[in-house]
Amino acid sequence: MRAEIIAVGSELLLGQITNTNAKFMSAQLADIGVDVHFQTVVGDNPKRLQEAIRIAEGRADLVIFSGGLGPTKDDLTKETIANHIDIELESNKLALLSIQAYFERTGRTMTENNKKQALVLKGSTVLENRFGMAPGMAIQANERTYMLLPGPPHEMEPMFRDEAIPYLQRLSGNQEIIVSTVVKFFGIGEAELEYKVQDLLEAQTNPTIAPLASKNAVTLRITAKAQTAEDAHRLIEPVLSELYNQVGEFIYGTDDDTLSSKAASLLLGSGLTISAAESLTAGLFTALLAEEPGISASLKGGMTVYDVQAKTEQLGVNPKLIETYGTVSAECAEALAEKSREYFHTDIGIGLTGAAGPDTHDGKPAGTVWIGLAFKEKLKSYQLRLSGSRNSNRMRAANFALYYLIREMELYKTQN
Ligand code: ATP
Ligand code: MG
Repeated sequence: MRAEIIAVGSELLLGQITNTNAKFMSAQLADIGVDVHFQTVVGDNPKRLQEAIRIAEGRADLVIFSGGLGPTKDDLTKETIANHIDIELESNKLALLSIQAYFERTGRTMTENNKKQALVLKGSTVLENRFGMAPGMAIQANERTYMLLPGPPHEMEPMFRDEAIPYLQRLSGNQEIIVSTVVKFFGIGEAELEYKVQDLLEAQTNPTIAPLASKNAVTLRITAKAQTAEDAHRLIEPVLSELYNQVGEFIYGTDDDTLSSKAASLLLGSGLTISAAESLTAGLFTALLAEEPGISASLKGGMTVYDVQAKTEQLGVNPKLIETYGTVSAECAEALAEKSREYFHTDIGIGLTGAAGPDTHDGKPAGTVWIGLAFKEKLKSYQLRLSGSRNSNRMRAANFALYYLIREMELYKTQN
């Protein structure tokens, strides 16, 4: 099957939004072996959309549209296609009911133009929209498949994954199921990771392992094809263990895990309590942990100790220690961690200090960070040499603190 994706929307052409829908669809289609030959972008203009459809029909058996299914005047995709393939639009009962239910639920009044969203191409397979009002649809006409999907990614993506992909698989008689797991790394660069697991990357065919490019994150995606989801998971398991064997120290989780969600679940699972004393991050670390529901059972508090006086007078760090080693030092970070543990009466204390930049601080170059970790009676510290901007250094430092915490918690878990 040769596919073409036509993204409809003037915002795309004006550079106001990025065409992430085409990217998402292309990746999903590649997974089931559908070749995408072209991606087209066209504005909210029926004439030019029709022109794009005509061109696509000359080179694709599957034409997928994104956007323009909404209730407003500029949403013309359905009408233009209906016109072009000469198939009528009819109101879909289920879609209309779900739109009415939506308005009742939100206590808003439904206007006449909202009914337009329940119109579908006569004879089409309706794709349910679980996160919005406009249903998607697929139809066979002129010896090809036309598929229409809504523009908002949070509506389109689940619809595509759960409805469009199975539809296309049924069409091609391919019942294989694709299952993938994303493995998440921290503390290692993309290039270094690829180098370390090169053999594994190259040896795999099913499942495949591939780096998944994303901003600020290093990840690998393991993708397996099998007749059932269970079989696919069975194929993934040994590859995942091999990754843990080779680069496990840098893996902090899978799929939806984030550094803070992982740290929170380990903390809550262990029953241990935590607190922090933060200088350069000024509360970022505790703010990240506080993103996680239920964390108050473990997170007792945090103190921002920005200048020397706050560190000594409020938290009780020995002034002599700071005089001797300075604030950007292993000693200071460990003292912050230990004093925070004492102050808040917790099992774990985290201390963060450093030179965020752009200038040197306390004689230390910008990007020098010390993270102290007081874990019950154990006391350790880690040094980072970061090279980003001031605020990226502060964010990295808070994330590194979560990462070291996760490693310590994993260790604790295996010993208890
Ligand atoms: P709505 O009911 O929200 O109007 P729609 O199906 O009519 O949905 P559009 O009006 O074309 O879709 O787009 C709605 C929003 O969806 C856009 O403002 C944009 O934020 C997002 N969107 C549309 N197309 C894309 C795309 N190709 N990639 C990423 N986001 C998109
Ligand atoms: Mg719209």
